[in-house]
Amino acid sequence: MIPFLDLRAQYRGLAPEIEEAVLAVLRSGEYILGRRVAEFEQDFAAFCGSEHAIGVNSGTSALHLALLAAGVGPGDEVVTVSATFVATTAAILYAGARPVYVDIDPTTWTMDAAAIESAITPRTKAILPVHLHGRLADMDAILRIASKHGLTVIEDAAQAHGAERGGKRAGAFGESGCFSFYPGKNLGACGEGGAVVTSSSERDAVIRRLRDWGQAARYEHVVQGFNYRMDGIQGAVLGVKLRHLESWIKGRRRVAGLYRELLAGNGIGLPAPAGLDHVWHVFAIRLPRGRAKVRDELSRRGIATGFHYPCPVHLQPAYSELGYRRGQLLETEKLAQETLSLPIYPEMTAAQVEEVADAVLKCSEAVDAEVA
Ligand SMILES: *Cc1c(COP(=O)(O)O)cnc(C)c1O
Repeated sequence: MIPFLDLRAQYRGLAPEIEEAVLAVLRSGEYILGRRVAEFEQDFAAFCGSEHAIGVNSGTSALHLALLAAGVGPGDEVVTVSATFVATTAAILYAGARPVYVDIDPTTWTMDAAAIESAITPRTKAILPVHLHGRLADMDAILRIASKHGLTVIEDAAQAHGAERGGKRAGAFGESGCFSFYPGKNLGACGEGGAVVTSSSERDAVIRRLRDWGQAARYEHVVQGFNYRMDGIQGAVLGVKLRHLESWIKGRRRVAGLYRELLAGNGIGLPAPAGLDHVWHVFAIRLPRGRAKVRDELSRRGIATGFHYPCPVHLQPAYSELGYRRGQLLETEKLAQETLSLPIYPEMTAAQVEEVADAVLKCSEAVDAEVA
């Protein structure tokens, strides 16, 4: 049996360290924010190459607060993508603004920078690219367009902790970057968690206040805020895990490299080659035909796979009020129909990767023969 990801394998390796850190929080009584969260914030800001990190209770909250701090509100439009988890869109709607989708680049599967300018209107306030699957979006082009039009850039880096280009890391390109520490993410808490990173002291102060009921001091509520604080226990867990993130990223790159080698030249669509700009939160292959059959067959052989994401946000019933229809974002819709995500986690052995690759080749050949 090869699981899609193995949270227990990661925990086993770190159990003594994590348990000691969690016990220290339990004994300290610092259950919300506190010293462990503050320490993690400093370490995570340094990891990202940002001045500040603000710990919150989820990646969704991080996006919501980053948007509010940028002044995004009712009547504003935010240019973003539909090829993502729904949280990206939800956060824009929470802020009272409207998401305007552009298609993705068919090679990188991230925001098609060439499509941004035609989506900009006088109401556009921000651009919110997503580093899908852990691959950095085309930040150079996005920042150039944003600066030309006076727009704020907020990165959805929920899948891309540590992805880098030109010595800069995810989250440090835009005005702010938003991270999720959902357990399955590349850096995961033992529960919910998220963070905003920014190098603006002003944004840092605003976001800190908003996450804690808009308080400037205790019971002094200067703005309407939220209960979006990070738990002390999550800060402690994340502080321990952050020390291993660099090596986990290397492990993911090793697995991705091995998959590429083993699957190449067999008619299977592979993700575009990548260097440091990809941290492989997801390794997805493209199967234009018979994806579901391959998935079923792999499952019968004890290999878990996933669809990320089977239906793009603009076609989800919950967001039908936005008025998008099938056919409007062709590359996004094709990606949603064709990708199959293979198991990937740093603890995966070469033998496991080989077993998956071998099964994928056999199953897709069999399905191809059937469809032909
Ligand atoms: C996970 C994720 C989020 C939301 O993070 P939560 O911590 O689950 O709220 C937002 N955007 C993307 C791209 C994600 O993958």
